[in-house]
Amino acid sequence: MEEKIRWGEMNRWELNKRAEMIDTAILPIGSLEQHGPHLPLDTDSYDAEYIVEKAVKRLETPRPPILPLIPYGVSEHHMGFPGTVTIEPNTFEDLIVNIGQSVLQNGFKKLIIFTGHGGNESTIEMAARKLKKETGMDVFIDSFKLMDPEKEELVDSENDVHAGEFETSLVLAARENLLDERMIPEKEMEFPDQELEFDNDPEFSFAWNTHELTGTGVLGDPERATKEKGEKLWEAGIERLKKRIEVVMRLD
Ligand SMILES: [Zn+2]
Repeated sequence: MEEKIRWGEMNRWELNKRAEMIDTAILPIGSLEQHGPHLPLDTDSYDAEYIVEKAVKRLETPRPPILPLIPYGVSEHHMGFPGTVTIEPNTFEDLIVNIGQSVLQNGFKKLIIFTGHGGNESTIEMAARKLKKETGMDVFIDSFKLMDPEKEELVDSENDVHAGEFETSLVLAARENLLDERMIPEKEMEFPDQELEFDNDPEFSFAWNTHELTGTGVLGDPERATKEKGEKLWEAGIERLKKRIEVVMRLD
């Protein structure tokens, strides 16, 4: 039988045995939030679980267990559109800390968190710091920024941060059946000042609500998305994540 990789599919003996052989577990985190008129609400969740599972499957056995995905995140800035469910940062932080404490108690002293949603990052960092301070647990945080080199090369629309060329390409490559291409909107964004555009370097940021910047809920240009770009982005991302997991696993 093929080695199980999902924490939830193992029985307690199998999990315990894995903890004796491996000190690393992986937690994917997503969001449930509007992704423009064309992409599924669970895009970030599906994508996070997809990349983690593909990367772990490429590792040699014994492989680290994948915890069940957290399907909600901090998405307050998307509440201006239907379909979004958001969690207060404090609650979200507590949830991650509690999961980390339990994972540690089960014998895994390292936790890799992969978030499919950028809005979760600051809270995950807080949780990671708390786990380190209170338990000594090492938490490693990764996200779709790991595809930045390929994004730079393949994605040419400006300020492409949400449901745009990048994310739409990923959905086209992973589950095209859920995307109605007739629903893909034209590019429409307005920033309060040019200096505040996301692509500005060095970045000058502000706390924004999506509906204040766009009437479509999209930040970027999904009309430029293609399945081929998505396939290239996935392949590069999966390979890079696999290498990063190997790095964490060989640390003391
Ligand atoms: Zn997203």
